[in-house]
Amino acid sequence: MKKYFKSILFILLMLAVFCFQPNKAMAVDEVEFGIYYQTIEEVVTINEDVAEDASLWDKAKHLGKSIINWGKKTWESEITRNFTLGEGESLWYSKTNSNIAYKVKRTKITSEEQLKELMLKNSSTGELTYGQKCLLASYKAAKSASMESRADASYRDNIKLILTDTGDYATGRNDTNPDVRTDFWPYSSGPTISMSDAKYKYSEHSTPSGEEDAYTTTFHEYAHSMDRTFSLQLHPYGADGKHYTTEVTTSRMAFIEGWAEYNEMLESEVMANEYKNATATLCYESQGKGEPVKYSDLDPADATFEQLLAAEAYNCNALFSLSQNLDNGLAKITKAFTSTRWNLFRDLKTIVKKLIKQNPEDTEIICKTIDELFLGKMTEKEFYQMFGKTDETKAYFEKREASKNGSEASESTSDDDKVEIESTTDVTVSKDNKLTVESESENDSPFDDN
Ligand SMILES: [Zn+2]
Repeated sequence: MKKYFKSILFILLMLAVFCFQPNKAMAVDEVEFGIYYQTIEEVVTINEDVAEDASLWDKAKHLGKSIINWGKKTWESEITRNFTLGEGESLWYSKTNSNIAYKVKRTKITSEEQLKELMLKNSSTGELTYGQKCLLASYKAAKSASMESRADASYRDNIKLILTDTGDYATGRNDTNPDVRTDFWPYSSGPTISMSDAKYKYSEHSTPSGEEDAYTTTFHEYAHSMDRTFSLQLHPYGADGKHYTTEVTTSRMAFIEGWAEYNEMLESEVMANEYKNATATLCYESQGKGEPVKYSDLDPADATFEQLLAAEAYNCNALFSLSQNLDNGLAKITKAFTSTRWNLFRDLKTIVKKLIKQNPEDTEIICKTIDELFLGKMTEKEFYQMFGKTDETKAYFEKREASKNGSEASESTSDDDKVEIESTTDVTVSKDNKLTVESESENDSPFDDN
């Protein structure tokens, strides 16, 4: 019954959120960031666990309280944070522990000086903490010229950015109760982007550094805010709810994350290299009955095209390589992205096909870039699903097949006659360059950052 009630309420809220969405078909001139600095003042207990042998009355009271808390929590995360965000004190409900909430205090930021001043008040050393420097990096990303130039791809003219300073409440990577790191994990709900220092404060000497990570993640979340692609609703990332750049999930989810990672690659050489290296080894999730989730390695050479298409790493690298290989690639990709905005179930194929339609003269470069990245694995059917059927794509396909047959023939006779396919991307797939997946490794983004 409780579950049924929750589902109905959730669907109603989702409908309300959808109706509130701005309805601009084309790009906006300017995106205004409403930036809020938020501190944690206190962790508040909002419900108590009940013992197994507690009286029926106590159990009923606990259930009643948890339903009310769930309603308040859903309202706070879906309505308040997105549409009525204000200043002052309020509760931020934990997603990892239904018995607690954080009392937070928010202040609207109008200048970098004001932000620094407020952060210093929340620092015990008289200097900005490393976590606060990461929040400052996120603020700078929102205010950067590069962010401003992305208004072209946005249909929103207003986005809220919440910068949470977790202070002494996040004390390490393995906090459990409360799990501040997970409760304040970066995400975009669309109208609102939430960033906190908890993910970055211990990564001063990592690659990328916490500051660089916070800077580029702000672009990542912004990219989600300009994307209407509809997420899968049921277990979008499999049973564990986590996703990795190297994980094989579905083509739509991989496109959604790949688009956001592509935006990071454009901002930072370090991130571009991280994501390029991520194409070397993939992994997939499986779970036996009653067993914990298990990850297994998948060598891209053994993967099918569909599996590569369902990996974030292949999606972000496809977009990035196209942006580098095409003349004016960035603008062309943005145009293909915005003009397919209402295709809510799109994936990489939608963008690539549109790109060819809008730029037929670039057909050869587009086909070559994608075909090489995907290791020539596309079947004829997959090839035309990716590129569409035009005179130019047909010509490329025939050339591709002839070159394949040529190299097969030459393999059986002499190696000297091989048809060379010139590489247009610098993505290499190497067995030795494996990326390991650790759920709390500082270089990975193990959780859904939405
Ligand atoms: Zn994301």
